[in-house]
Amino acid sequence: MNTESIDVLAQQWESICSDYSAGVLSDTFQFIQAHSEALVIEFYKNMMLEKEASYFLSDDIVQNRLTKTLNQWLIECFNAPFQRNFAELTEKQQTVGKVHARIGIPSWLIMRGVREIEKKVFSLQSEALQPESYAFSMTCYMFQVLGFSSEIMCRSYEVNVEKSNDIKHTYRLFSAMQDVAVQKDKQRGSLLDWENELMFKVFSDQHKFTHPALSKSEFGLWFIHKAAYAFTGSEQVDEIIARIYEVDQLNQTVLECEEKERTIQLIQNVRGKNREIQHLIDQLFQVAEYIDSGNDALTQLLNRRYLDTIVSREINFSRKNRAPLSLLAIDADYFKRINDRHGHAAGDLALQFIGEVLLECVRGSDYAFRIGGEEFLLLLVDSDLSRAQEIAENIRRRVQETAIRTALGSSFNFTVSIGCSLYDGHPDYQRFLDAADAALYAAKNNGRNNVYLSR
Ligand code: GH3
Ligand code: MG
Ligand code: MG
Repeated sequence: MNTESIDVLAQQWESICSDYSAGVLSDTFQFIQAHSEALVIEFYKNMMLEKEASYFLSDDIVQNRLTKTLNQWLIECFNAPFQRNFAELTEKQQTVGKVHARIGIPSWLIMRGVREIEKKVFSLQSEALQPESYAFSMTCYMFQVLGFSSEIMCRSYEVNVEKSNDIKHTYRLFSAMQDVAVQKDKQRGSLLDWENELMFKVFSDQHKFTHPALSKSEFGLWFIHKAAYAFTGSEQVDEIIARIYEVDQLNQTVLECEEKERTIQLIQNVRGKNREIQHLIDQLFQVAEYIDSGNDALTQLLNRRYLDTIVSREINFSRKNRAPLSLLAIDADYFKRINDRHGHAAGDLALQFIGEVLLECVRGSDYAFRIGGEEFLLLLVDSDLSRAQEIAENIRRRVQETAIRTALGSSFNFTVSIGCSLYDGHPDYQRFLDAADAALYAAKNNGRNNVYLSR
């Protein structure tokens, strides 16, 4: 949002205040200071009854933080005519709207909350001792300010949601066409591997054995996390997911089955379902075309462009399905020196090497980004900290152990530092990114060439 609109809105705020006498402004400020806690309590009490609100507010950490923020918000809004900081406050409301858009809190929920506060204001005011017309002026002023402040939030909310919808749309196209397309043949192989391993276990007459669910296999995770999203809206997606879960059930029955003949029948059913899955996937890809965007030219990893969209989508998945999600922030150590000693082209080779190592160490369902010069992020789906740590250590060791050969025949070694963080359930994805960044910073401070886990 540009500064001109901040000025215009700040003026409107000021003009609302100028409609009321100095007495009304200062008595209202005192009223809010005296009752802000009661207003916030009321807000929570009623908002928690809304199913959609409790999704955002149920977390204790969020609640504690928000109680403070909400209190402060009320006080600041009504302190405005004395501080004369209308522009600063306007900007703050815009930021709140932006954060709501990022988290995905719908605008109507904000209006709903403000309505609760207004209702409480009204009931408190009716107990006050002021003459009726004076109390009426105070109530009007409060409603105007609460309404205006949420209006600013909604304005900025709209702009930001629109932006992120645009990006989501192009991301879908992009991933449908490219990242997913690159994986298709490999994933077809993974599906077959899963099936062959199951058959091998059954026919090698092992008495008791285990076999992972298809939905948790390399193939299943790839389809659920990436391909399904890339092809959102296609009828095949739901059909494939339904079949994956049907195969999970069949698989479970196979594991429990004691009779040979029935087991063979079940295996045939699994194979039948898997052929259907393959056929449906082929149909999906018939419409796909190649688009080259969103990828980093040097490493072929994802670039920054879709970072926010992908991370926010995956944290939603993690919250809904209670699946762990981890993030690695990776930065090459003393990279300037490498460029200085061996030249920029050699530096580029080292960066390409990091890209290769990242892709070799992860599953097809994970996301690898190059987000800056020598900075990378790995988003590990369905992964707890111990998997994250194992992968991080793997990457760190492989980089340390491999010499990069330059075009001029010389060679050099270099290292990376890695910060790991586990998603903590907070709906704002920026906090998740910041946590990985802080862990990386700690890894650097610990002397570099090491992995730091944030807990
Ligand atoms: P630290 O261990 O603290 O990370 O030290 P550093 O030197 O790696 O840190 P810094 O972030 O200050 O420097 C990063 C350097 O990476 C700066 C730049 O010369 C180099 N760099 C950034 N992008 C590229 C690129 O695309 N190719 C090459 N060859 N070098 C790059
Ligand atoms: Mg750096
Ligand atoms: Mg660096």
